[in-house]
Amino acid sequence: RVVTRFAPSPTGFLHIGGARTALFNWLFARHHGGTYLLRIEDTDRARSTDAAIDAIFDGLNWLGLGGDAEPVFQFARSDRHAEVAHQLLAAGHAYRCYLTQEELAARRAKAQEERRPFRLESEWRDADPATWPADKPYVIRVKAPREGETVIDDAVQGTITVQNIEIDDYVILRGDGTPTYMLAVVVDDHDMGVTHVIRGDDHINNAFRQLVIIRAMNAIEGGWPDPVYGHIPLIHGADGAKLSKRHGALGVDAYRDEMGLLPEAVFNYLLRLGWGHGDEEIISRDQAVEWFDIANVNKGASRFDLKKLLNLNGHYLREADDARLADLVAPRLADLAPSLDHAKLVEAMPVLKVRAADLNELAKGAVFLFAQRPLALDEKAQSLLTPDARAILAKVITRLEGANDWTAPVLEANLKAMAEELGVGLGKIAQPLRASLTGQATSPGIFDVLVLLGKEESLARLRDHAA
Ligand code: GLU
Repeated sequence: RVVTRFAPSPTGFLHIGGARTALFNWLFARHHGGTYLLRIEDTDRARSTDAAIDAIFDGLNWLGLGGDAEPVFQFARSDRHAEVAHQLLAAGHAYRCYLTQEELAARRAKAQEERRPFRLESEWRDADPATWPADKPYVIRVKAPREGETVIDDAVQGTITVQNIEIDDYVILRGDGTPTYMLAVVVDDHDMGVTHVIRGDDHINNAFRQLVIIRAMNAIEGGWPDPVYGHIPLIHGADGAKLSKRHGALGVDAYRDEMGLLPEAVFNYLLRLGWGHGDEEIISRDQAVEWFDIANVNKGASRFDLKKLLNLNGHYLREADDARLADLVAPRLADLAPSLDHAKLVEAMPVLKVRAADLNELAKGAVFLFAQRPLALDEKAQSLLTPDARAILAKVITRLEGANDWTAPVLEANLKAMAEELGVGLGKIAQPLRASLTGQATSPGIFDVLVLLGKEESLARLRDHAA
């Protein structure tokens, strides 16, 4: 049985690294027919916000990475965390430490002065519980082993060994009785039945510390096996530096709202970021589930490449259903094209979507369809409409007025014949046509434009600019 979890701290938006961690957990669970859970690590009360929680769920749902059960909220489980701290205390795997902040600070300063790393050596570690003062504040620290070493067979990083002397007696319950993050993670993972902990490699050191509690609880009551760890490398920018906004690393909501990307493109991109299956670039959800193997996750940091993401998005735009694309694009046209005709937008999609890399471009490309006459011409379009060109437009009108088969092949044959008769290239006709029909110098193929606008509207637009 495989149970994974994604455990974000709701202190900011769902960023690209977090989304990829969620994805790998989801894939691993799906591949093994297991369960994928969500846990909101909201124990940092000052920095956790409802807005961040909403943004995380929103982003995950958009990517199709919602959990298989109701999410667990960590803060609500504080009593349970404290209970485990007291179990560890009662069994001698933890101790009350009465060192004050001042004493700790003094020891830290002394270590610094003597240029040696600070290592807490609390005299309370081996104190007889009978000597514990009843009326002085204390914290509970876990009793980390001093001898031997701890070995983790990490599913991504391979075997990592740490000398136990390096592992500190960290605090599990604070002076005010509240549990620390380190304790909460371990207890929640156990209670949620998590078998595989897949997360960023910035948590490797925590794994060794967390194992101290896990193994102590296993000794006390059994049923606390070591989880399998898989620590995935961070994401870097294309220049190799730690990923930041400068690299185009935004919240997942910005990929959707501002950049106009499709979730399947972001999904595919994240998938290829640090994991691959041969040279395959386009990988569907189902294929990903079938192929995913945590052992194939790169050990080195992956580089974020905005261009690749946009390329993938272009691919998925071309594949996407036209009605769905129209629904996604329509809100982006609200200001640009107030008199939007939804059916027309759907009809135009096959022609429009091959020319766009994102939904914003797609929206821009659709504006001419709904523009009001007389069309505003951009500068380039204006310069195309020379007196000669306007004279050609007049001829086109005469010729097309008689056309009763308004389809692309017939229009094409018609205008090609006309070009031949006039002894000019087709471009000489197509360019002023495009300028007056779309107001721009670039657009989808001119015959497609004529068909999409229809005979009446096309001729009306041409008349607006003909000599
Ligand atoms: N809440 C932690 C974070 O957002 C993750 C902890 C974990 O996965 O164990 O980095």
